[in-house]
Amino acid sequence: MDNKIIQLKLTSLSVTSSNTAASDAEQISKLRASQSPIAISVQRCPSWSSLDPLQFRGYWDNTGNGTLLNTGQTAYFTFDTAARPRLSGGPLIGEYIFEQMHFHWSVDDFTGCEHVLDGHGYAAECHLVHYNSKYESLEAAVAHSDGLAVVGFLLEVVDAPNPSFDEFVEGLEKIKKSDQEVEVSSESLAWMNREDLSSGNYVTYKGSLTTPPYTECVTWIIYEKPVQIGAEQLGLLRQLEGPDCIPIERNVRPTQRHPPGHSVIYVRQVKAKL
Ligand SMILES: [Zn+2]
Repeated sequence: MDNKIIQLKLTSLSVTSSNTAASDAEQISKLRASQSPIAISVQRCPSWSSLDPLQFRGYWDNTGNGTLLNTGQTAYFTFDTAARPRLSGGPLIGEYIFEQMHFHWSVDDFTGCEHVLDGHGYAAECHLVHYNSKYESLEAAVAHSDGLAVVGFLLEVVDAPNPSFDEFVEGLEKIKKSDQEVEVSSESLAWMNREDLSSGNYVTYKGSLTTPPYTECVTWIIYEKPVQIGAEQLGLLRQLEGPDCIPIERNVRPTQRHPPGHSVIYVRQVKAKL
């Protein structure tokens, strides 16, 4: 019941013409947090179109190189350069600094994602973890409810390889064993570079880390449209070995219950404002 009341209130906010993108982002920042991941019924989410488009700066076009590491739990990418990518716009107030990218997957093509949108499962989910630039580091930011922003991409397996994953996949081939790492270029993020980033729809909510200590410090941004990846390319993630020299079968946290009064917003990105 609580849920309904809050959702109605949010829906009515979205049609108030005096709302600015900044005050809408402020509203989102005050929403109640939940544990993550969650299953989301997109159709039931209040829909907002007044937020600024998301801005990704210095990702695939970064002049610095990165490192791709097999942590024994996941494939983990960081930039070696001090010039870190920056994320702003959308539900975010201020700028968020890129810290790392990692992946979740499973043994089949439908249970490898953490977030579930309208009941659709996918083979994998990629997380780009950022921390709020007003804090000194990721470690410091975790203590604050506006500390982290994580962008999630759902990965859908298709037959043909996606050439924009080539550089990333080349890196994966070299880190099959736990603790192995390889230097890769920012081209490893080339697959992110699609129009959907600034014009595609996404859901956003206040949630938590999906790995210990599960702190509720994350503004989640999950794109609705999955990124396509070739079956063989995705297969390389599944070949990554854990510390026991056995391929990592599953590194997905199950979906968590929505607490009472918890809301998810469906954001329609509108390109230029007249
Ligand atoms: Zn994750």
